[in-house]
Amino acid sequence: MAAPMMLARQALRLSSRVRYFSSTAARPAAEVKRLGVVGAGQMGLGIALVAAQKAQVPVTLVDSSQASLDKGLAFAEKLLAKDVSKQRITQEQADATRALLQPTTSIDDLSPVDFVIEAVPEIPELKFDIFAKLAEICPKHAILATNTSSIPITRIAAATARGNPNDTSNSSRVVSTHFMNPVPVQKGVEIISGLQTSPETLDTAIEFCKRMGKIPSVSADSPGFLANRILMPYINEAIICLETGVGDRDSIDAIMKNGTNVPMGPLQLADFIGLDTCLAIMKVLHTETGDSKYRPSVLLRNMVDAGWLGKKSGRGFYEY
Ligand code: NAD
Repeated sequence: MAAPMMLARQALRLSSRVRYFSSTAARPAAEVKRLGVVGAGQMGLGIALVAAQKAQVPVTLVDSSQASLDKGLAFAEKLLAKDVSKQRITQEQADATRALLQPTTSIDDLSPVDFVIEAVPEIPELKFDIFAKLAEICPKHAILATNTSSIPITRIAAATARGNPNDTSNSSRVVSTHFMNPVPVQKGVEIISGLQTSPETLDTAIEFCKRMGKIPSVSADSPGFLANRILMPYINEAIICLETGVGDRDSIDAIMKNGTNVPMGPLQLADFIGLDTCLAIMKVLHTETGDSKYRPSVLLRNMVDAGWLGKKSGRGFYEY
């Protein structure tokens, strides 16, 4: 079947919630009593903190590195202290939130969770291994969610099938909850179903994200999902405009900022995201779709080759 036709069918199934496969034992989001988060980095820490604060569930926070756990929890305490000083929350509320965060370096401690969100680095084999483990460790009703930016959910779900793709008892519980950075600030979250994901899993993921105070958008399992599929070609086109002399840096950023009411122009935004990340996502869109409209800009490639990655390296389209 042609790819556009397959996607149209997948989208139709998403909208009508009709699926090919049987239901799983996923429970309603209200029954999510304990969350697990794997990876206490930039995203995982934010997810754990918001879940503790808004959904008020205990969170088992797993990281293979004790140093990452220490750094993450110190950052969480700093954010909570700032909220107290600005009188957004009381000291008691901050203490209650902090007490809900339970750090560990052992993934086996996820055995009592009802919902787990994986946020380890974007390395396919690492995520496949972790999902195979989660399928074994977590209870059979637990939802297994990933925060991946670019790896197909269907591929991650397949890693839980123990070599038998027809056994969907684990893969139907896999879904993506793709939070936006920084998690405590950004309200949007993309919820992505793989081909194997059951409607109950999708519903539970949507409802749990709402309990976390987020506004979910549902996307099909397609390269870049929704946010990056729309955002990255916009940034890439702005870089092509610079590269081909259609406008200079300040004109490009000023017209988008002042003409479309966004807080920063596309070149400054690219610097904040990281030019290496922008290039990696454009490459995924280009190779996975085979569509030339996603060709990464030559200037973007050159800047990454030069090590000018944006804010994090001190130089990108701007100097920091
Ligand atoms: P990060 O590098 O800040 O954090 C990853 C954490 O995972 C680290 O603390 C690391 O010690 C830990 N880790 C590594 N291997 C592990 C293992 N086997 N078991 C447990 N912990 C392990 O990464 P991040 O920026 O938080 O990104 C995490 C995920 O979120 C990635 O898939 C990324 O694509 C996605 N994402 C990132 C952003 C962003 O802006 N940073 C936005 C949306 C989605």
